[in-house]
Amino acid sequence: MKISAETFQLETKYPFVIARAGAADQRSVFLEIAHDGKVGLGEAHPSSYYYNETPEKVLEVVAKVGDLLGDDPFPIVDIVARITEAFPDAPAAVAGIDIALHDLCGKLLGVPVYKMLALNPANTPRTSYTIGIDTIDVMLKKLEEAREYPILKIKVGVDNDMEMIRAIRDNTDAIIRVDANTGWGVDEAIEKINALEQFDIELIEQPIKAGDYEGLRKIRQNTNIPLMADEDSITTAELPKLIGCVDAINIKLMKCRGLCEALRMIHTAHSLGMDVMLGCMTESSLSLTAAAQLSPLTKYADLDMNLLLTNDPYEGLKVVDGKIILPESPGVGAIRR
Ligand code: MG
Repeated sequence: MKISAETFQLETKYPFVIARAGAADQRSVFLEIAHDGKVGLGEAHPSSYYYNETPEKVLEVVAKVGDLLGDDPFPIVDIVARITEAFPDAPAAVAGIDIALHDLCGKLLGVPVYKMLALNPANTPRTSYTIGIDTIDVMLKKLEEAREYPILKIKVGVDNDMEMIRAIRDNTDAIIRVDANTGWGVDEAIEKINALEQFDIELIEQPIKAGDYEGLRKIRQNTNIPLMADEDSITTAELPKLIGCVDAINIKLMKCRGLCEALRMIHTAHSLGMDVMLGCMTESSLSLTAAAQLSPLTKYADLDMNLLLTNDPYEGLKVVDGKIILPESPGVGAIRR
C-alpha cells in the first residue's frame, strides 16, 4: 500500500469559539492510501487539546508509517492496533489512516462502509447544528440561519451564558443541547443546570474539566438534565470510569483514532447503559461522512461542521430536515468537489 498526505486550510463562516479555546488551527490533513488500483481517502484533523497534535505531526506519522500498513488492507483492526502502538500520541493521524483503510476496503469490495459493517442506513439519527460562542446579537443571527435544523447545540461556559440561552429559547422551539466544553466549576454547574431546566434543555455536554469523576457524579446527583461526557470520553478505556457520572458520551473519530475504536466505544457505552453521540472537530465532509457511517448505531449525532464551512473540498453526507442521509457509493462515499 502507498500512502500520501497534504494539509488543507478549512475556512468557517464564523470564527468557531468554545469555552476552552479561542481560534483554533483549522488545518486538516487529507490522506490517500492506494492499493490494487483503488485509492482510499482519509482525513486527520488534529486538536492541540489532545496530545498537542498538529498537522505537522500527522505528516510525520504518514511519512514513517509505510511498513506498518502491510500489503493487505482488510485486517483494519490489526493495522490500526499496530499503528496506535507505534504512534500513541497521534490520534487524528491514526484516525485518518483508519478512515482511508475503510474507504479503500469499501471501494475494493464495491460496497458502502455501512454495508461492510452490517448497518441499516435508514436508522441514522438527526444531527444537531452548532452555534458557537459570540455576542447575543450574532448568536441570534446564527439562530436565524439555523431555522431548518430541528436540533441546536449551543456552546456556553462564559459569564452571560444564562442570558444567551434565554435569548435563544425565546426565539426558537428547536430541541436545545448545551455544551460547556469544561467551562464550569462543579457548584457553578449545579446552579446553572438547575436554572437551565426552565428552558427545556435536552442534555448538557461536559460541564466541568476532564478527569473530575467525583465532580461529575455530584452534578448528576443534584440536577435533572441528562449529562454527556465529551472531553472525558476519549477511548473505550475511559468508559468504566464514567459509570454513574454521565448518561451519555460523545465519540469523535479524531479523539478515539477512527472507526474501529469508535465501534468498540459504541458497544461498550451501550452495555454500560449510556447513550452515544457521534461528534466532530472542524472537519470536512470526508471524515464527517466516515463518522456518519456508524450513526445508525447511535441515538445522537453532532455531525454538522460541513454546514459551517465555506470551502468544504468534499461532498458526502447530506442533511434533510436534520436527518443524516448516507451516500450509497462504495467506501466512505465522500467525493472531491
Ligand atoms: Mg463537546
